Amino acid sequence: MVVKNEDGRELRSFKFKDEDQSQEVRAVERRVLLETLASQLPPQTIQFSSKLESIQSNANGDTLLQLGDGTRLLSKIVIGCDGIRSKVATWMGFSEPKYVGHCAFRGLGFFPNGQPFQNKVNYIYGKGLRAGYVPVSATKVYWFICFNRPSLGPKITDPAILKKQAKELVSTWPEDLQNLIELTPDETISRTPLVDRWLWPGIAPPASKGRVVLVGDAWHPMTPNLGQGACCALEDSVVLANKLANAINGGTESIEEAMESYGSERWSRAFPLTVRANLVGALLQWENPLVCSIRNNIVIPKLLRLGPMLEHTNFECEPLFVSKS
Ligand SMILES: Cc1cc2nc3c(=O)[nH]c(=O)nc-3n(C[C@H](O)[C@H](O)[C@H](O)COP(=O)(O)OP(=O)(O)OC[C@H]3O[C@@H](n4cnc5c(N)ncnc54)[C@H](O)[C@@H]3O)c2cc1C
Repeated sequence: MVVKNEDGRELRSFKFKDEDQSQEVRAVERRVLLETLASQLPPQTIQFSSKLESIQSNANGDTLLQLGDGTRLLSKIVIGCDGIRSKVATWMGFSEPKYVGHCAFRGLGFFPNGQPFQNKVNYIYGKGLRAGYVPVSATKVYWFICFNRPSLGPKITDPAILKKQAKELVSTWPEDLQNLIELTPDETISRTPLVDRWLWPGIAPPASKGRVVLVGDAWHPMTPNLGQGACCALEDSVVLANKLANAINGGTESIEEAMESYGSERWSRAFPLTVRANLVGALLQWENPLVCSIRNNIVIPKLLRLGPMLEHTNFECEPLFVSKS
């Protein structure tokens, strides 16, 4: 990992293995991850483009899902993994995720003849502005720019405007970043307001209601400052799958109990990460020149220890339960 100043000066470089043997970085393109997971399922298991419109629970605990195309599904178990604007979470009484005051541009630079970067995570820290990029394959490089913005403003989806705005933000920054933005296909650039939801004990509803349960961003949207949102969603899935498999295969817990036990086990992981990600974001988005100078000239080069900073990534999932039948 290399950390640079906005003028391109290297502040520090780390090797993950030198800092902590357990650490490594794997950058995975979302599409590849989803296709890989989907390919493990029997054909036709996933029905795409099924937009959930409304939910209703029956007296016997089943749940009726109304889809946008008019389909109605009566379900024994519902796992709500429908992201930050989750309809399932709203139905369960969760509040809307809260905007934290900064937005992120994201894109996937494409180099048809091979990308020129070393296999390193690159960060650039400016004042109230930071960026990063990391190769995800032989031809693609993921990049982001995070910038302060007091209010949400209008939603912009026109890639030409997004590209222009992103380039303007970092117009005086190292050229690598400018080139990456330029080489980003329209369909991969986006601007996202960063949001989270703090699951205060006793205030936030539980992760499950009857036989309906939440997973990932639908339950615990967190800012991406620790790079843990999707990781946490995957961890949720493994823990929940194991607990449900035990309940369904004659274990001592009912399905409802398995979901409750998942909720309490995962809360203790997701809630601290949500809070920490928020605080780290607030620190990294500081605009004060003196504070930024201390960060870039003293804290990062001399004080920062990567091992303890990355301890939160050390989560051991139990292996997935495999049914013998
Ligand atoms: C700028 C940025 C950078 C990030 N970087 C990282 C990182 O480095 N590492 C990391 O681990 N995480 C990162 N994250 C977080 C990560 O993207 C999310 O935590 C992750 O995508 C959550 O996965 P999910 O499956 O819960 O939700 P999502 O990925 O949002 O998926 C939800 C799905 O539900 C579907 N859906 C929504 N509404 C409905 C409906 N009504 N009916 C049917 N389907 C619906 C959506 O179409 C979507 O397919 C980042 C996020 C941002 C914004």
